[in-house]
Amino acid sequence: LIQLSMPLHFMGMIYREIKQALIDIDDMFQILHRNPEIADRPGAPPLAVGQGNVRFEDVRFAYNPDRPILRGVSFEVPAGRTVAIVGPSGAGKSTLSRLLFRFYEPRAGRILIDGQDIAGVEQGSLRAAIGMVPQDTVLFNDTIGYNIRYGRWDASPEEVREAARLAQIDRFVSGLPEGYDTPVGERGLKLSGGEKQRVAIARTILKGPPILVLDEATSALDSFTEREIQDALDRISRGRTTLVIAHRLSTVVNADEILVLDRGIITERGTHESLLAEGGTYAAMWNRQREADAAREILKRAEEEA
Ligand code: ATP
Repeated sequence: LIQLSMPLHFMGMIYREIKQALIDIDDMFQILHRNPEIADRPGAPPLAVGQGNVRFEDVRFAYNPDRPILRGVSFEVPAGRTVAIVGPSGAGKSTLSRLLFRFYEPRAGRILIDGQDIAGVEQGSLRAAIGMVPQDTVLFNDTIGYNIRYGRWDASPEEVREAARLAQIDRFVSGLPEGYDTPVGERGLKLSGGEKQRVAIARTILKGPPILVLDEATSALDSFTEREIQDALDRISRGRTTLVIAHRLSTVVNADEILVLDRGIITERGTHESLLAEGGTYAAMWNRQREADAAREILKRAEEEA
């Protein structure tokens, strides 16, 4: 059995590394903004951001024409409020955030920020207005300090530290022998998923955008890390227009509105309480997740006792 389990363990490691590399390539693509299909119209004006109201109007989209992904999605995130999108894997949740960044354009319908169609504004100004905390953060092969300052290059060391404190990563960084000068990334210290996400949060705090997109991690973090990250996210989303792409449901309870996206259409919308009372898809997802969380807890306890 040992002979068999070693190669399996090894293959698991390789699989995770390859998967990570693919995710990073996806994020890199986002960072480099390399979608040649999307070009600014000549003389496109910059986005004039006021309060940061976001509106999707009957948005339709497909990556390949024969496979519609969004089939008429309409919703609004009022300025300063939080809307969470939940739904089964592949429903099109992350696609909504890619359209908001204009990495792709809707085939029909419009996306408006403070009344301006984002298809008609200059892309740099659009992306400057939106902060993204992605599922898997790309770290540059540089110091932790550099990776946080990426949010705003002219930030002072004190501001970097304050952002890190708000993102609950300062204590970890300060405990390292080289502190903020510690090299990270491929050739440096490898950070855990939760630590990387907190670096991304600190980066976003420094950027201070009026609109936030939080793409929640798919994988389960341990409950302490999840709590810490949740606190940090709550803090940065306060008073900012926030769209939460929720792959788990723990972050959505306090959202002003929850949308259930299923195969490209919104099938339910409401608050956590109203959707639970409705007893539909959201309620079923919630119950299933609670059962899964409970099972995980039991397993963990059994492992600890063994
Ligand atoms: P999950 O919760 O699993 O992350 P999701 O709801 O965020 O899922 P999306 O990432 O929006 O789902 O993807 C929606 C569908 O579009 C999926 O079926 C996916 O395979 C497909 N898709 C995503 N990106 C591309 C792409 N670049 N080209 C073609 N199809 C894509």
